[in-house]
Amino acid sequence: MDPFLNLTDVNYSYHSPEGETPALSNISFSVSEGEFIAIVGPSGCGKSTLLNLISGLLLPEFGTIFLKGHSVRDAGTEIGYMLQKDHLFEWRSVYRNVILGLEIQKKCTPEHLARADTLLDTYGLSGFRDSRPSRLSGGMRQRAALIRTLVLEPELLLLDEPFSALDYQTRLSVCDDIGGIIKKEQKTAILVTHDLAEAISIADRILVLSRRPGRIRSIIPIHLEVEDRTPLKSRNAPNFKDYFNRIWKELNYYE
Ligand code: ADP
Ligand code: MG
Repeated sequence: MDPFLNLTDVNYSYHSPEGETPALSNISFSVSEGEFIAIVGPSGCGKSTLLNLISGLLLPEFGTIFLKGHSVRDAGTEIGYMLQKDHLFEWRSVYRNVILGLEIQKKCTPEHLARADTLLDTYGLSGFRDSRPSRLSGGMRQRAALIRTLVLEPELLLLDEPFSALDYQTRLSVCDDIGGIIKKEQKTAILVTHDLAEAISIADRILVLSRRPGRIRSIIPIHLEVEDRTPLKSRNAPNFKDYFNRIWKELNYYE
């Protein structure tokens, strides 16, 4: 059977009048359905470029990217993308922000609209349904942004540093919250973060990239000694720091 997501020998360079910037080199890995992958690596090593390639926004110069056996170029709404900024529009209510993707894709069927309301209800935002986004806390805004992505029923979620605009305390609880929702909705997810502890707390496997041009330095499966694992509980696992030290060394070792 085909893996859920498969990248083989993916290479990418940016071209400008000043010359060529190789961003990624020989990237190959697979992701299973329902898996949560975190990608860590030095700033500028090509993490966002990698997500843009997986989303189909950029095309690899060389190599292939398949989602369920089809090129991601044809994936459309099967892939949801969440960024650091929540991009909620202040002139729309929370509900009308959440259904924006449905409007754009002309999918405002009674079923889809009902699902938007169900998600707002399940994840504690129905009381803010008709409010402006400025009434929401930073964490609630990210939850609304996630719901806006989930109503489109993506098969794969891509998250590019979605918590980095939040202060540390909020960040811990929002990561726990968003991680819980993604798990409950049984989504496959790839999270880019520069926060190593965050990656270990949430991921099933961590991909460590080298400096630009990003190559895969290692892929580390995370098995934490903790019951009913959540991102917050993960941080108390006795072997959490062992992973931290190992990946820290990987990140700080350059040829
Ligand atoms: P990361 O997300 O890991 O910080 P990026 O994927 O954003 O890194 O960028 C990887 C490298 O490619 C960086 O060195 C960046 O300067 C360069 N880069 C990104 N976008 C462009 C672009 N549009 N044109 C030229 N170079 C770019
Ligand atoms: Mg980036």
